[in-house]
Amino acid sequence: MNYDYDLFVIGAGSGGVRAARIASQAGARVAIAEEYRIGGTCVIRGCVPKKFLVYGAEFAQAFADAAGYGWTVANATFDWARLRDNVQKEVTRLSGIYNSNLIKAGVTPFEERAELVGANRVKLLKSGSELSAERILIATGGAPQMPEDLPGVELGISSNEAFLLEKFPRRILIVGGGYVALEFANIFHGLGSETRIVHRGDRMLRGFDDDLRAHMHIEAERSGIKLTMKATLTRLEKAGGALRATLSTGEHVATDQVLFAIGRHPSTRGLGLEGAGVKLDASGAVIVDEYSRSCVESVYAIGDVTNRMNLTPVAIRDGHAFADTVYNNRPTPVDHRSVASAVFGRPPIGTVGLGEGDARLSHGDVHIYRTNFRPMRNMISGNQERTLMKIVVDAKTDQLLGVHVAGEDAPEIVQMAAVAVKAGLTKKQWDSTVALHPTAAEELVLMRERVAAPASAP
Ligand SMILES: Cc1cc2nc3c(=O)[nH]c(=O)nc-3n(C[C@H](O)[C@H](O)[C@H](O)COP(=O)(O)OP(=O)(O)OC[C@H]3O[C@@H](n4cnc5c(N)ncnc54)[C@H](O)[C@@H]3O)c2cc1C
Repeated sequence: MNYDYDLFVIGAGSGGVRAARIASQAGARVAIAEEYRIGGTCVIRGCVPKKFLVYGAEFAQAFADAAGYGWTVANATFDWARLRDNVQKEVTRLSGIYNSNLIKAGVTPFEERAELVGANRVKLLKSGSELSAERILIATGGAPQMPEDLPGVELGISSNEAFLLEKFPRRILIVGGGYVALEFANIFHGLGSETRIVHRGDRMLRGFDDDLRAHMHIEAERSGIKLTMKATLTRLEKAGGALRATLSTGEHVATDQVLFAIGRHPSTRGLGLEGAGVKLDASGAVIVDEYSRSCVESVYAIGDVTNRMNLTPVAIRDGHAFADTVYNNRPTPVDHRSVASAVFGRPPIGTVGLGEGDARLSHGDVHIYRTNFRPMRNMISGNQERTLMKIVVDAKTDQLLGVHVAGEDAPEIVQMAAVAVKAGLTKKQWDSTVALHPTAAEELVLMRERVAAPASAP
């Protein structure tokens, strides 16, 4: 059968772009459709613009710390419009690079929405044309969830809009307990907003090690972010020139902006997947095997739309593995074990492998090494922020199971620690590494005393 393309990719985000380029470079005839902006969530309204805002917010603490080092930083003021526009300029530059890389690789881009109309057919919505492809790759990512039933929900925003705000809010209420909620809380707080987080759970950052979670609560409150746990929003309404949020506790909160960061759902709605026979799970994610193949032979899915591990480098790896498997004759199953991740909060978190709770469940006896200290940099500045480091080790094999750090440069440190965890090194091998002095990271190789007995110890 003659198809218009060998591969049609829907979604030009982290995963889709990588898969399209590698497949095309391997000789396949590839097209890609993007309904918003080429680059996807990470480049346009996720990791990249967020990290710039994090950098921007960090100046507040740097100015405060400077005094102890002899500096006088007089009359520091912040201009939201300048930061926002500079970030958007960089985002536009990066999106252009993604686009030209696709074209250089020989991929045909369509800047419009695409939907499936069969196991080998897609429809382009703007032009109305239908195209056929031997294989279709779903790389549509995810989208922010909004509490649709909440009265006044339309007055709030999601992370998508947070990057583009016309006016910087003097007060902001952030709803949610995940990393996106915490990161935006630290961004807005650092840039000068009176910031409050409302979360229905009793602690933020579900899924992270419990010590890290507790540490981040202490640090968030110490820095001045107000945390309200075990509460939800029941109503949002206009009040004068501001907003009034009613909480499930009965409290009314006056605020200028409400940001919902309550999770994301896979972007499969209206995509025509069910019609083509593709099975979705209860969250709407495409169910795939280890080669990212769906139950329909010609349809594959990668990245956030599969809801396996929603991180950019994972989507990129998924995309590359798919293209290697199908077009480079190198069957490559995806491997999502020991993937490091970060939370760019205050302090930032870097984490890889199993937290203590999960490690005890899966491995039984574990050894825990932990330290909590005020880093050298903060001693002169008077900054009270503390660093937490924790290592989880399999008691039977001495193998490293997890490394968790909340402190300055934690993501940078843990990226390297991930090499040791991924390689399955033992604590003995880890300890044979001589410290690099004076750094905060050296504490990681100097933790010799266990702090907790194995769970099964008498
Ligand atoms: C605020 C925020 C911060 C984040 N920070 C980090 C971080 O620090 N580190 C990290 O690793 N990850 C981070 N992430 C997650 C990361 O952005 C995603 O894991 C990653 O972008 C997933 O890539 P993807 O290719 O699966 O999907 P996406 O990058 O979401 O790309 C999917 C693309 O498909 C398009 N699309 C959807 N449907 C259609 C259709 N029918 N037709 C055409 N196009 C369509 C979308 O417009 C989008 O451009 C963050 C996410 C958010 C929201």
